[in-house]
Amino acid sequence: MLHEECGVMGAYDFDGGNVAIDLYHGLYTLQHRGQESCGIVTNDYVSLHTVKGKGLVNEVFTKDNLGTLTGKIGVGHVLYGYTGDDNDGVQPIVSRYCKGSMTIAMNGMITNYSELRSELEHRGAIFQSSSHAEMVMNMIAVARTQTHSAEEAVMTVAKRLKGAFSIIVMSPKKLIAVRDPYGFKPLSLGKRGNTYFFASETAAFDVIHAQTLCDVRPGETIKIDDNGVTHYDDGVGKVKPAQCIFEFVYFARPDSFIDGNSVYQARINIGKELYKACPVDADVVVGVPSSGLHFALGYAYESGIQYAEGLVKNSYVGRTFIKGTDEIRREAVSIKLNALRGAIEGKDVVLVDDSIVRGTTSANLIKLIKDGGARKVHMRIASPPFMYSCPYGSDIPDRQQLAAVRMDIDGIRKSIGADSLGYLPMSAFERVGLKPDRYCDACFTGNYPDLLL
Ligand code: SF4
Repeated sequence: MLHEECGVMGAYDFDGGNVAIDLYHGLYTLQHRGQESCGIVTNDYVSLHTVKGKGLVNEVFTKDNLGTLTGKIGVGHVLYGYTGDDNDGVQPIVSRYCKGSMTIAMNGMITNYSELRSELEHRGAIFQSSSHAEMVMNMIAVARTQTHSAEEAVMTVAKRLKGAFSIIVMSPKKLIAVRDPYGFKPLSLGKRGNTYFFASETAAFDVIHAQTLCDVRPGETIKIDDNGVTHYDDGVGKVKPAQCIFEFVYFARPDSFIDGNSVYQARINIGKELYKACPVDADVVVGVPSSGLHFALGYAYESGIQYAEGLVKNSYVGRTFIKGTDEIRREAVSIKLNALRGAIEGKDVVLVDDSIVRGTTSANLIKLIKDGGARKVHMRIASPPFMYSCPYGSDIPDRQQLAAVRMDIDGIRKSIGADSLGYLPMSAFERVGLKPDRYCDACFTGNYPDLLL
């Protein structure tokens, strides 16, 4: 299984109401982007209020501690995993310096992190963690002492950062969002009444009854303060956008729109293309919950093969804390998912999943389906084979661990126990409107956008 590294959210209420509850509900919606830790920081113009910690949104926040989060500006964050060895990366990160306070929430990975951090350290900066957000915050604090405004400082720093970043910064009286020039990670602007929101995914706006206004464009900075909402084009159009195509395949919720495209519709269309590329005779099409479901629907629509709910998901399993032997991992898969014997017994099943990483999960799933009575399992994968790791913050393991690097397609098929195996061809992305000149597909092609310049 892959994991996205983070989700961010910000809110600014021009009417002066407290924004914490909206941020809480928004983070709930973004929970799939990170289950390791979460936090909210609010600003009531007198002081900052922080609640953050390890755990899920419903574990960290309570009615009581949410009540302490007063203020009309706020920032929230959910974190999947942490790149450093320490545990100090829980965001948002708050810091105080000569210009007051600064709070930052970030999704992404800075690829020139070591170089920039070493530069700061040689100038006397002290770090609490190896969090990229902390390093960016330090850079903004330094830049702020040399510029006229917080937004200017953010834009100055953004020019020096390489890699992927969607960042929300809260200064004493401003909320500022910035997205890297490639736009790797999604970030949108929404509005309800006189309250404006930033969020990693538009689904977060739906739950708080806000309307999506626009995406923060790749390279754009947006500032919200008492003067209103101001857009800065500073980094826009400097490079060809390269939004993460895997957001459509796996990371994002199906009810989100990324840069105007429906994630749900993209998945249905990809499922249709998957059938056209890898047809097979079978009795039922089964999707692996949750991200495989809509691909399976598309596959069923296009093929005319009946769609069946062949796997039941236990919705109450949160983070998988079970690690260790393959046997224990198999049990962990069975706790999360169980085969629905009535839907698959004696049948030839097309099993549709978003990707194969190491191959262990697919092998366990196929065993589950076969143990549930399926006669044959034809595995269909709604993305091309993973061949490269991701330097932009998505948790794809080292190349050597990727099934498609270690084996050819038939080798993978045998190792996972499938009767046949088919992957989505790269060209199918373009046919569903995800054009290669707008999207990063480096984990499939090795064409890292910032190395193509
Ligand atoms: S390398 Fe893959 S996962 Fe990483 S940003 Fe590009 S498409 Fe997304």
